[in-house]
Amino acid sequence: MANDPGAGRVAWFQGAIRPESEVLISFRDGAAVHADGVYDTERTFNGRVFRLDEHLDRLWRSLAYVGIEAPVSRAELAEISLEVAARNHEICGRDIWVTQRISSGVPHDYGGDGRPSLIVESLPLPFESRAPFFRDGIRLITPPLRRVPPWALSPQAKTVNYLNPLLGGRHAARMDAGAWPILLDEHGNLSEGGGANVFAVRGGVVMTPRAEFVLPGITRGVVMELAAGLGLTVEERDIGLYEALTADELFITATSVCVCPVVSLNGRRIGGDGAAVPGPVTHRLQGAFSELVGLDIVAQYLDHLDAAAGAAARAPFV
Ligand code: PLP
Repeated sequence: MANDPGAGRVAWFQGAIRPESEVLISFRDGAAVHADGVYDTERTFNGRVFRLDEHLDRLWRSLAYVGIEAPVSRAELAEISLEVAARNHEICGRDIWVTQRISSGVPHDYGGDGRPSLIVESLPLPFESRAPFFRDGIRLITPPLRRVPPWALSPQAKTVNYLNPLLGGRHAARMDAGAWPILLDEHGNLSEGGGANVFAVRGGVVMTPRAEFVLPGITRGVVMELAAGLGLTVEERDIGLYEALTADELFITATSVCVCPVVSLNGRRIGGDGAAVPGPVTHRLQGAFSELVGLDIVAQYLDHLDAAAGAAARAPFV
């Protein structure tokens, strides 16, 4: 596509950086057949990869959880990731996602060598489709299906098995095109979306669901640090629908959007009619985040508002 900001991207695959078109995984790869794979995704700010070490720590925990051995060392993967990021940032001409994908490969019984496969790849950040969230706030919907409980498949591991939140996202989109899902956990408390953690603010206290029930987002951790640095009380705790619906503010955190305000939950305006979007605490956290990463995260999205009308806003699964 002539207007694809990512056209010409490269990826690391089978020992070399090559054009994406040369990255060909078998249709019998464990990731394709049984979702037997893990991944992690970071983003750049002005071309610099943010918190790579923390993402690789999480990736290594995900690998350990599912029992896949990394085909390269951690130090090698860090180096490969930085190289792919630098090349693709230049090619895309904007900030990008950088993703490491490791799957179990093709098993012996399927004619393979049973060795794990690794891809490191990038996509341009979707500023256009998400810009309106920074002006209007995100609409959240809690779908009827619940987040997979930790005793079935731990949400703390970032695996490629996304059908659970993905179906939640489809339900939310049927209710309200453009809304994002926040799944409830098995007890009926907020958990997370397909690619985002959620926070509630009540009386100046910043709350987020306990790590047991969610992916411990890298952005979630950063925001908890920033909130504490601003002198706010931060609590990891169960957040029921009552607390969420009566919160002063809700916001989500994710690698792509960093800190993004929520305008409504299940059609109910958060903070009451006429409440500011973003609310004051969300706004302060966006400011602190911008200071930390060295660019105005809100302006970076809002700069793409003109292009937003043509871009389809889809539920995120990153
Ligand atoms: N929850 C899920 C299920 C995710 O896939 C993601 C994205 O990685 C997040 C939360 C947010 O995590 P992070 O801040 O590391 O992007």
